[in-house]
Amino acid sequence: MRTVIAGAGPTGLFAAIALARRGHAVTVVDRDPGPRPDGTWERAGVMQFHHPHGFRNQVVDALAAEMPEVLDALVAAGAERVTLPDRSMATGLRCRRTVFERVLRAAARAEPGVALQRGHAQEVLRHRGRAAGLRVDGRRVEADLVLDASGRSGRLGRGLRERPQGGDCGVAYVSREYRLRPGVEFGPMENPSAAGALYPGYGALAFPHDNGVFSVLVLRSGDDRELALLRDRRAFEAAAAAIPLLAAWTDPGRAEPVGPVLPGGRLHNTWSGQLDADGEVPLTGLVFVGDTVCTTNPAAGRGIALALVQARRLLALSGDLAADPEPATRAFDAWCVEAVKPWFDDHVEVDAALRARWAGADVDLGARLPSDLVWAAAEADPSLMRVIGPYAVMQALPSSLHEVEPRAREVYASGWRPPVPAGPTRDELAALVTRAAERAGNGAG
Ligand SMILES: Cc1cc2nc3c(=O)[nH]c(=O)nc-3n(C[C@H](O)[C@H](O)[C@H](O)COP(=O)(O)OP(=O)(O)OC[C@H]3O[C@@H](n4cnc5c(N)ncnc54)[C@H](O)[C@@H]3O)c2cc1C
Repeated sequence: MRTVIAGAGPTGLFAAIALARRGHAVTVVDRDPGPRPDGTWERAGVMQFHHPHGFRNQVVDALAAEMPEVLDALVAAGAERVTLPDRSMATGLRCRRTVFERVLRAAARAEPGVALQRGHAQEVLRHRGRAAGLRVDGRRVEADLVLDASGRSGRLGRGLRERPQGGDCGVAYVSREYRLRPGVEFGPMENPSAAGALYPGYGALAFPHDNGVFSVLVLRSGDDRELALLRDRRAFEAAAAAIPLLAAWTDPGRAEPVGPVLPGGRLHNTWSGQLDADGEVPLTGLVFVGDTVCTTNPAAGRGIALALVQARRLLALSGDLAADPEPATRAFDAWCVEAVKPWFDDHVEVDAALRARWAGADVDLGARLPSDLVWAAAEADPSLMRVIGPYAVMQALPSSLHEVEPRAREVYASGWRPPVPAGPTRDELAALVTRAAERAGNGAG
């Protein structure tokens, strides 16, 4: 079967290799030219490319199941598989997104049965009411099956499906990469994949990657114009020195910056199934996968895990898709509604409550607690972790927390609140970054 995939991001490349190994003749089209001969890779259009990524174990499992040599190549490139400190469970991969994609792209290039083409996919071709390929820079790339893996900004499926649900998740990123000095360890971490500190009004995170490189990140409200000044290098450095978690990681004795300060655009929780507003498959032979189906607040690091579990489900259905694509597309959609959409719904709930708390509201004891507050309550009652643990590693859906939500609510009703870590308040941080940005001539006015 001939398959054309729009988008050579993690979803498109993973699906391409795995489908080729199932006998498909796969063409992957991406407007991105790939890495330059000097090794640099801008990846315009994928704004998150240079921002920190954590890779959950679902990503490791997907690679191990379908292309174990890619996992080996990632490890050879410096990525590190990580487990819980007691080694009871594998939790993911420490790796820069840039390294991850470089390795996956090289594997796709080397894969017999995969052709990687540069070009802009303009529209889905149709023949007798079915998808028949893609128009790419004016030329026809014909296929029996079209996968739209064009990511969160993809436009190919516009107007075909029911209106997407969701919207702005209310937070924005400012991040920077650093490299450890020789012989020095990563900074303090409460779990092997990241370190985090949440304050009323902002958050700070550190992500260990490969080869001694790590990223630090300040998470701010998308509306916070003063904290948007963190995009200024001196403002970011002042903040990194003032927030204890980031200060420990970025101490000049431990590490040096290896890239610019990267502001990020607005971030969205979005859900868009396969069907149109009438509940029909809009174009038989066209299937959406990855971020074209679901995006979630990236601070939880779920995007690529959700993308690759979708891709694995599609692979399981690939025989049915070849034989009779309409019911197979419906079956894929039904599975996504059960296994993927709950994560979108969870983020919508968590982010709305976080926005309210960042705006000064107390925990709302009149409504069901959002998952992050149920999780936080485990600090007061560690017995909750029995149920929270599987949710935390995405082995159980958010609804699994309902069992312990009443107990978590009792914890909050007693007056307990998650302790605020040492460090500047949002207003102190805003004053600090404003002063630093003004000194650098980059103030808000
Ligand atoms: C700031 C940020 C941080 C994140 N952090 C994490 C994290 O820590 N962990 C995690 O798991 N996930 C994270 N995510 C989510 C993760 O980046 C996405 O889930 C992932 O990129 C989805 O992969 P994809 O292949 O579906 O889409 P993309 O990576 O967006 O790839 C889509 C590809 O399609 C191409 N394309 C688009 N339109 C066309 C067209 N018309 N013609 C040709 N090519 C086209 C683009 O060039 C691109 O190469 C983060 C997201 C953001 C925004």
